[in-house]
Amino acid sequence: MTVIRPSDEYLDQPFWKHLAAGTLHLNCCNDCGGAHHPPSPICPRCRSFDTGWKPASGRGTLKSFAVAEHPVHPMLADQVPYVITLVDLEEGVRMVSGIPKGTEAALEIGMALQCRVVRFDDRFALPYFLPVAGAGEK
Ligand SMILES: [Zn+2]
Repeated sequence: MTVIRPSDEYLDQPFWKHLAAGTLHLNCCNDCGGAHHPPSPICPRCRSFDTGWKPASGRGTLKSFAVAEHPVHPMLADQVPYVITLVDLEEGVRMVSGIPKGTEAALEIGMALQCRVVRFDDRFALPYFLPVAGAGEK
């Protein structure tokens, strides 16, 4: 599978480099402590320019999801149908993500999710979110 790589020139590079190393980090404000996503050179809460990166817990809840029946890019042609998720992380940010194939049948809005970093090679990885064991079972 051809992998589309993020540019080396944008301020979100630490996000991608931490993922490639196997961890999810969030852009955070060194003044108010708030996390924000997508990354920004200015804190959206207190307008500070003093921002940095901190490891995220990886814990979140499922805000919404949709099933993509048509690929938005040719590299995804063999992946359809796939699930696009909106995940509210406990750090207070919302992230667009996905889940591994085969787990979509168990999805329920509000269920607990845990991040799993999926590496495609030594330079590129994506954060996927899986249902926490037992979540969604009745
Ligand atoms: Zn701030």
